[in-house]
Amino acid sequence: MRYSQTLLPTLKEIPAEAEVTSHRLMLRAGFMRKLTSGIYSYLPYGLAAIRKVENIVREEMNRAGAQELLLPMVQPADLWVETGRYEKYGPELLRFQDRHERESCLGPTHEEVITDIVRKDVHSYRDLPINLYQIQTKFRDEIRPRFGLMRGREFIMKDAYSFDVDDKEAEVSYRKMYDAYQRIFTRCGLKFRAVQADSGTIGGSFSHEFMVLAETGEDTVVFCQECEYAANMEKATVKLREKEHVESLKKLEKIETPGKRKVDTVCEFLNISPSQLVKTLVFMADDEPVAVLVRGDRKMEEVKLKNLLGVAEVEIVDSDKVYEITGVPTGYLGPVGLAVKIVADQEVAAMRNFYVGGNEKNYHMKNVNLGRDFQVDGVADLRQISSSDPCPECGAGLELTEGIEVGHVFKLGTGYSESMEATFQDSDGQKKHFVMGCYGIGVSRVVAAAIEQNHDTNGIIFPVPLAPYTVIILNLGLKDEKITATAEQLYNELQIQGIDVILDDRDERPGSKFKDADLLGIPFRVTIGKGLSKSGLVEMRTRRNGAVEEMTPEKVIPALLSRIAAETLEKN
Ligand SMILES: [Zn+2]
Repeated sequence: MRYSQTLLPTLKEIPAEAEVTSHRLMLRAGFMRKLTSGIYSYLPYGLAAIRKVENIVREEMNRAGAQELLLPMVQPADLWVETGRYEKYGPELLRFQDRHERESCLGPTHEEVITDIVRKDVHSYRDLPINLYQIQTKFRDEIRPRFGLMRGREFIMKDAYSFDVDDKEAEVSYRKMYDAYQRIFTRCGLKFRAVQADSGTIGGSFSHEFMVLAETGEDTVVFCQECEYAANMEKATVKLREKEHVESLKKLEKIETPGKRKVDTVCEFLNISPSQLVKTLVFMADDEPVAVLVRGDRKMEEVKLKNLLGVAEVEIVDSDKVYEITGVPTGYLGPVGLAVKIVADQEVAAMRNFYVGGNEKNYHMKNVNLGRDFQVDGVADLRQISSSDPCPECGAGLELTEGIEVGHVFKLGTGYSESMEATFQDSDGQKKHFVMGCYGIGVSRVVAAAIEQNHDTNGIIFPVPLAPYTVIILNLGLKDEKITATAEQLYNELQIQGIDVILDDRDERPGSKFKDADLLGIPFRVTIGKGLSKSGLVEMRTRRNGAVEEMTPEKVIPALLSRIAAETLEKN
C-alpha cells in the first residue's frame, strides 16, 4: 500500500474521549472512529489488524476440526423465550419489533440459534461430535460502554458451539478448544494465561478464561510462582493454613468502644490487630438478607457468596438498610444474638476468642467463639485471595497480576438442549440431549489487549503476527531519482515475497514520517535517504527495541525475512 493513497488519519493530540492506552492509541493511529456511544467504524488500518487475528483464529479452529458458518445478527424472540433468557438476560439484550410487530433482538450470543439448527438437522450419534463456529458482529447494550474496543456495545467475536453424545466426549471437545486457544494466543504473539474461571451455579460445568497480561487489565489473575496453578480472582481458592496452637476458649465479654465504628479505629482503640476482629457485612441475596462474617483485614468475594447461596444476585446493603433489618447502628453489628441468616468465611470458623460488634451502639464483644456464642447457616471459602496466601495446589507463593479477558471456554452441559428439547438418537436407540460447550474469543478485543500489552510513549509496538503492515519503507528523497527508485524496488520485491508493506511516499518532513511510523507500531522500518548516495547504505530499524542497522539495499530482504520468521510461529 502507498501511504499517499491510504485513509490513515493519524492524530498528534491525545483525544479527550479516550480513558485507556489502547483506546487512545487506536484513535491516534487512525484505527477507528466513534460513530456513537460504544459503536465504532473500523478504518482500513484497524480492520487490517482485526483480519490478522481472524485469520489466525480461523486457521486454528479449522485445524481443531470446527466448521465455520455464519448466523444472523437479528434473532426472533421466540427462541429466547424457549430458554427463558428473553426474561432473564436484562437490558443488555436489545429488543425491538419488526414491521409485523414480531418481537426480535440483536444477538449478543448465539446458543439459541445454533441449538435450533442442530435440533432440526442433526439426529444421530453418528453425526457427532460436531463443533460449529462463526466470526461475527455482536451487540450488547452495555450501560456504560468505555475503553474503546475493550468494552464497546458492538464488537467482533468468534463464537463456537460443540455438541457431543455424553459428558466424557464433551470434555474431549472442550480440551480440543482449550488447546486451540493456547495456539491462537501464542501465535498472536501475546503474553497470556489460561485461568480457571467461575462458571456460576450450573452443576457439572467448568470453564477457563484466557487472559492477556497487561497493567490496565479489568480483572485480577492469581498464579503460582512454582506450579501451573492460575485462576481468576473470583474463583481462586483460599487454602486455610493449619493452626498449630489452639487457644482455650475465654469468657465472652461486652466492652465499651465509644464512637469506634470502623475496623481501623476499633483496632487502634483496643490495641488489637485487624486479624483478631471479625466484620459482619449484610447482603441482600436475591430477596433475603444474609450476614457474612470475614476477618477484619480480608475482602469478601461476592461471586463466592453467590455460589454458596445459589442465588442470582448479591448486593451489599447500606447502613440505613442494615439498621432497618437488624436494629443495630452502623459499625456495631455482630453475630451474637443476630436474628438473620449468617454465613462465615472458613477462616472465621477456625478463629478463637475474636472481637465482633456488640449489636448495641458504642459496644463490641471480645472472646467470641463460633459454635459456643452463635451458630451459622454455612461455612465456606468466601474471601478474596491475597498475595500472602499459599498456592492452593502446591503451597508455594502466589503472584497477582492484572489481565484482560480475550477468550472463554465453557462446558455448558445439557441446559440449552433440555430447555429447547434438542435430542439425538444414541447407539443404544435411546433419545438423548446433546451435551454442549461454548467457546468465545473477542476478536476486536484481542487487538486492544495486544496494544495494552505492547506500546511505549511513542505509540504502538505490534507483535509481528498482528501488525497490519510488517514493514514500512520511508522514502526521504521524493525528488531524488536514486532514492525513489530504490524505495520502489524494495516495495515491489517485498510484495512479491508476500510481506505486508506500506511505502511512505508522502510529501512530508522526515520528522513526521518517523513519528507516524512509531505511532502505527509497524515492526520494521526501512529508511532510504541521503545515506544512499554517500555510502550506498539504507537503514533498518526494529520498532520494539529501537535497534538500528545499516546495510546495502540488497541485504534488506534477507534480513527482514529472517527476523520475521523468528517472530512468527509456524502455522503447522
Ligand atoms: Zn502452586
